[in-house]
Amino acid sequence: MSVLVYVEHADGKFKKSGFEAVAYAKAVADQVGTTLTAISIGSVAQDELSALGRYGAAKVLSVGAEQLKTFVNQAYASVIAAAAEKEGADIVVLSNSFSGKGLAPRIAVKLQAGLADGAVDLPDTSGGFRVKKTAFSGKAFAITELTSEKKVIALNPNAFGVKEQPTDVQIESFQPEISGNDLKTVIKDIVRATDKVSLPDAERVVSGGRGLKGPENWGMIEELADLLGAATACSKPVSDADWRPHAEHVGQTGIAISPNLYIAIGISGAIQHLAGVSSSKVIVVINKDPEAPFFKVADYGIVGDAFEVVPKLIEALKAHKA
Ligand SMILES: Cc1cc2nc3c(=O)[nH]c(=O)nc-3n(C[C@H](O)[C@H](O)[C@H](O)COP(=O)(O)OP(=O)(O)OC[C@H]3O[C@@H](n4cnc5c(N)ncnc54)[C@H](O)[C@@H]3O)c2cc1C
Repeated sequence: MSVLVYVEHADGKFKKSGFEAVAYAKAVADQVGTTLTAISIGSVAQDELSALGRYGAAKVLSVGAEQLKTFVNQAYASVIAAAAEKEGADIVVLSNSFSGKGLAPRIAVKLQAGLADGAVDLPDTSGGFRVKKTAFSGKAFAITELTSEKKVIALNPNAFGVKEQPTDVQIESFQPEISGNDLKTVIKDIVRATDKVSLPDAERVVSGGRGLKGPENWGMIEELADLLGAATACSKPVSDADWRPHAEHVGQTGIAISPNLYIAIGISGAIQHLAGVSSSKVIVVINKDPEAPFFKVADYGIVGDAFEVVPKLIEALKAHKA
């Protein structure tokens, strides 16, 4: 038995959430007394693959097939399931990222495995195999018991952290057969909406809502985000009104994120918005209404007019940086 972890990369560089998945999978492997194998799909350089040893992977399977250069949900799921069979892995771990959300159930079906998606902690193996996961769009936790022989765990980004546990790593090429059935929908081109930090991967996010009155006021949001090295996001009405691109819309019907820092400016905190951001580590709310529901989930709250508070924050950050 071993544990297999799928590690995502973007343009050949592993994502932070990928390293986190490796660190988590290593802790799971230690818990059940086995070794960890990682799988990488697409074109990734040898030294980047070797870096996975830093987080505890003893072996890395590298799948470099030309047809898998870009993400193909069905084909990636088949390859990961084939790798699990080859390695005799009973547990497959991956990040509950945008791609992971599509992959995890497919892998589980292929392996006839139980699935815990949105995991936030290591499994409790004291009497069975129980995984704590988010439920109801992050409004609750569920403890799920996986009773199947094989198990798939999709870890929520930022739930475990990136922990180093250096191990000697062996890199192996893996060339499974890829069925034409798995390549019926392929991505031909990717056009980036922005060169800035990608929202799902961002450590810090500065987000604006309808309280900002109009798109002309986003200069201060962008300036604050630049100073913090943060991505920008927005509430649904803001993207619906075309003040900001739809790619920035977070919440139940938008992107779900869990950065280390989420700054919500002029956003009321409706449950549909919170559904996508409430698992952020630290939430800072700036709102002129002390009764705004967002304050109930905030770690830090500033009651004040965004047009006074944000410029002062920018000033203070600039002074701090200088
Ligand atoms: C099925 C469904 C799905 C939905 N999905 C989503 C989703 O994914 N994401 C999402 O965001 N919403 C979603 N919504 C909409 C959601 O219910 C709210 O309507 C929306 O989040 C409100 O956006 P807002 O907070 O920007 O605007 P508002 O509710 O108008 O709030 C504006 C806030 O700004 C504050 N404010 C005003 N002026 C200032 C100022 N000068 N300084 C500081 N604060 C100020 C106000 O006090 C207020 O709290 C969904 C709704 C439905 C029904």
